[in-house]
Amino acid sequence: MLYPKEEFGSTYQIPFAEFYKKGYRAIIFDIDNTLVPHGAPADERSKKLCRDLRTIGFQVCFLSNNNTKRVAPFAKALEAKYVSNAGKPFKKGYLEAARLLKVDPKRILFIGDQIFTDILGANRVGYYSILVGPIGKYENFWIVFKRVTERIELFFYRRSKAYKGNKPNRNGYEKNIPEEYR
Ligand SMILES: [Mg+2]
Repeated sequence: MLYPKEEFGSTYQIPFAEFYKKGYRAIIFDIDNTLVPHGAPADERSKKLCRDLRTIGFQVCFLSNNNTKRVAPFAKALEAKYVSNAGKPFKKGYLEAARLLKVDPKRILFIGDQIFTDILGANRVGYYSILVGPIGKYENFWIVFKRVTERIELFFYRRSKAYKGNKPNRNGYEKNIPEEYR
């Protein structure tokens, strides 16, 4: 339940077109530290990514525990659907996002930077969960605390059969991001 299906150093390294070929049709993103630094507005590369995803054929939705004041303008800038105050890792917000998308849960990718909220919840509802390295610095005590516990969890994950071996470069991951998203 706590293991992501896959792991990447950054959202901007994920080979989305390959996932489309595999049958995935919608992507639900966490926002803070997944697409932009915590609390930051939509930047050029997040806009480009969403445009590119729509060109591939994906629908995009955001699922955030942050409030509507934060999430609504962000989603509007990227012309995507959203669920704010999502209450991750509880199932309710995830299911609401699937209702907005009208896509079979088996065809949904979920992308987030936190195991104990993003990944746990996505696994509970059966979305294909992808853990990404966080963008930006740690913001407060609780996030630092969660990161430390995540490190311990990741240690076991990377030794388990579930691990696919695409070890993310969490330090300096920007280096491995395709030119167009830098
Ligand atoms: Mg996050």
